[in-house]
Amino acid sequence: MESKTLDGLMQPKSVAVVGASSQPGKIGYTVVDNLIKSGYEGKIYPINPKAADILGIKAYPSVLAVPDEIDAAAITVPASLVEQAAEECGKKGVKALIIITSGFSEVGNRDLEDRIVAIARRYNMRILGPNIVGTLSNSQKLNASFAPFLPLTGKATLISQSGALLIAMDASTYIRRVGFEKLISIGNMSDVDFADIITWLDDDPNTTCVSLYIEGFRDGRKFMDACRRAHKPIIALKSGVSSHGAAAAASHTGSLAGAAKVYGAAFQQAGVVQASDLDNLFDRTLALSLQPPMKGDNLLIITNGGGVGVLATDSAERYGLPLQFAPQDLRDELKKHMPEFGSAKNPVDLTGMAGRDWYEDSIRFAFAHPWVDGLVVLYCETSLTDPVDIAYGIKKAIDESGVKDKPVTVSFVGGEQSEKATRWLVEQGIPTYSAPDLAVNALAALREYAIMQQMLAETNEPCLDVNKAQALEVIGRARADGRDSLTEIEAKQVFAAYGLPVTKTQLAKNEEEAVELAKAIGFPIVMKIVSPDILHKSDAGGVKVNIKDEAGVREAYRTILNNAKAYKADARIHGIAIQEMAPWGTEVILGSVNDATFGPTMMFGLGGIFVEVLKDVTFRVAPVAEGQALRMLSEIRGAPILAGVRGEKPRDRQAMAATICRYSSMIVDLAEEISESDANPVLVYEEGKGVRVADARIILKKK
Ligand code: ADP
Ligand code: MG
Repeated sequence: MESKTLDGLMQPKSVAVVGASSQPGKIGYTVVDNLIKSGYEGKIYPINPKAADILGIKAYPSVLAVPDEIDAAAITVPASLVEQAAEECGKKGVKALIIITSGFSEVGNRDLEDRIVAIARRYNMRILGPNIVGTLSNSQKLNASFAPFLPLTGKATLISQSGALLIAMDASTYIRRVGFEKLISIGNMSDVDFADIITWLDDDPNTTCVSLYIEGFRDGRKFMDACRRAHKPIIALKSGVSSHGAAAAASHTGSLAGAAKVYGAAFQQAGVVQASDLDNLFDRTLALSLQPPMKGDNLLIITNGGGVGVLATDSAERYGLPLQFAPQDLRDELKKHMPEFGSAKNPVDLTGMAGRDWYEDSIRFAFAHPWVDGLVVLYCETSLTDPVDIAYGIKKAIDESGVKDKPVTVSFVGGEQSEKATRWLVEQGIPTYSAPDLAVNALAALREYAIMQQMLAETNEPCLDVNKAQALEVIGRARADGRDSLTEIEAKQVFAAYGLPVTKTQLAKNEEEAVELAKAIGFPIVMKIVSPDILHKSDAGGVKVNIKDEAGVREAYRTILNNAKAYKADARIHGIAIQEMAPWGTEVILGSVNDATFGPTMMFGLGGIFVEVLKDVTFRVAPVAEGQALRMLSEIRGAPILAGVRGEKPRDRQAMAATICRYSSMIVDLAEEISESDANPVLVYEEGKGVRVADARIILKKK
């Protein structure tokens, strides 16, 4: 959808209010009143069949009676009347409906909502809502909502899926001093969704950062595409992080893929910065809307107090920006602007004796120094200095440094004077906070944004050496057999068709065949039950490893069959798999689910207890590019095990990442067929020695 089609909604030249009322307390009154009070300079058309005028503005019985064009119509009539209102707006040529009315899909009334969307499509109208507060814009002086006033002016635009939260946030912008250009209530997203608005905002000169409050949506891929294409930072707060709703599933992956984890993965891959709660959303939005991205890892902290300096140092490590000592030439220069007992290492401690001059001189020099990628300035209120004067000095030094492409954040800890200084600095475009942790966290957001932008530039190398036809043939045979899961042997055939390094395995239908195959493959071997009715083979006593000779094969053959029959008397048994025994390696799990919002999604984690108990796994929406795959390996808690601990050699992470990429291409290519899958375990060997897939499982989509 072209972004221009939202112009009527985002910058209307005229707004009708359908259901306008002269009765205070009615939403139809509030919206007209808000349009007037916000100073909206376009035309306002109250629509009411009974009133001649509303709040002093001429009213019309229907939009059809309005003599001029109408860009947007705010709909406030009861749900039962919305269909008719939409129809009339369509006839009138209205470009966008802002449907404030509730009582649609959010209460199960989807049919009515669908009918209204159909009307809108017929007339080429866009719909914001229904079930929304409305939309507010400072640059347009437009308050087409029932929120009481426009937010504090600023450069961020907030899109909120919760109306109540939007009203509350509107009011709190004045207390928090975080300014917004627009607040948009998005409601049921019957038509216009996050992606549409993000795309429109990318061309909006008044918006420098897009801030999202998300509860959940359907078209995850469209959202990711819009975010990837955006040229300005996007930050999201996603609520509903409990794993409630993760369906009981046949595979590990299904049960581990809580919605929050998959959203988190999608944000990462789409370059969307995340916020941990409401405060954090405001704090990070402020920095992202005012400062440029942080292009490298070198953070310098300048402080007048050791305490706040140490606190900020702790925070820096927590948020992925561990401090490094400043280079010698920078230290030498800084030493000139502090007493003998100060420190120029990092944090740079100007000491409590620091006045405005020292701050100015050190900031001017340090900010411009090529080693510094980002700066955090801390100030503890002292009896020697005036916070406001220090603030002036900070601003002046930053300006005089001439630096425009590096970020700075500030924290003033103190009383009323510090608060005054904070406000002033924020008005000057310098994000300033009441605690060192907040300043560091905000700077980290700018670093996260830069890192993700860099990763977005990566593309997936297409895997050309795949044999989809062979995979489909294996799947087709299982389906013809009336099954919706593959046996390990079949799953490995599919994996092999996509070039995954599976252990060699063949089916023996009787004991003699088992002996033959074992000799052909070469001892030691592994033997496993092959039954479509036994998905977890070890549970059924269906796996024997390290079989060294013919006698062992014969014994294992009988034991496995007996165990399987004892486990499930009526299990269909295809035979016994005779399998090459992979040497010992670090066990990891790969898996996939078909997420309702994002489609094929990959999981990676360490095997065994790490999966079962610690749920130490991480996700990415497929396909996964190599850089992201490497990040998956390093972001699990068990990452040091792959890196090599206690004298062990590092594991072959490159091969593991390549396997993740390949696996992810497979689940995208076979998205129509595969519902869930896993490779558990995959054995990872030391660097240069690759990986082997020892077990494979595929659950098919029901057809
Ligand atoms: P299950 O259906 O119970 O998951 P697996 O095929 O994963 O059965 O086998 C159980 C365990 O046996 C694996 O976790 C692994 O430790 C070991 N194993 C299975 N196949 C092989 C193999 N080909 N080489 C080495 N070890 C194997
Ligand atoms: Mg297994």
